[in-house]
Amino acid sequence: MTDFKIKNKTLPCKTLECKLCNKIYKRPSGLKKHKKIIQDLNTIKPSIYILPEKAIEETRQMLVYHIKEKLKQNSRHVGNVSVTISGTKNQFFGIFKGYIHNYFPKSGTYKCIFKGADAYSTLAYILKDENWGVKYFLQHQKTFVLFYLPSTNSNNQDSSGII
Ligand SMILES: [Zn+2]
Repeated sequence: MTDFKIKNKTLPCKTLECKLCNKIYKRPSGLKKHKKIIQDLNTIKPSIYILPEKAIEETRQMLVYHIKEKLKQNSRHVGNVSVTISGTKNQFFGIFKGYIHNYFPKSGTYKCIFKGADAYSTLAYILKDENWGVKYFLQHQKTFVLFYLPSTNSNNQDSSGII
């Protein structure tokens, strides 16, 4: 009986890792807290105005346009490409709500992480455009999309990364 108990204790623990940001937690409560924070980040606060779908759609199109422009300019470039567009927090939430992973209060930066085999299609769904990025291009590089959001009171910087 004693042996069994000891063996049981030495069994490798299930890794407490956030699969998106690869942060490893020592305790299940840490990972739970991380997930709770993410859930809160994706909950629209009363200070955020929900834009009409038409306005969100226009922002999506603008974002896709800027991504494509950037990809064209860098067609021989392998590495990270940063796309920065101006927008409001409301526009950012309108598009990326549900996909926000981190918030950095000091810089006012939001981060979305898209990774793995579904990253492209997830962004196609978010941006409602299957051709939002150039596929042959994406196979050879990491693309990092940066959103710069000027704000009335602080330097809000929203970002989304495609890893
Ligand atoms: Zn995470």
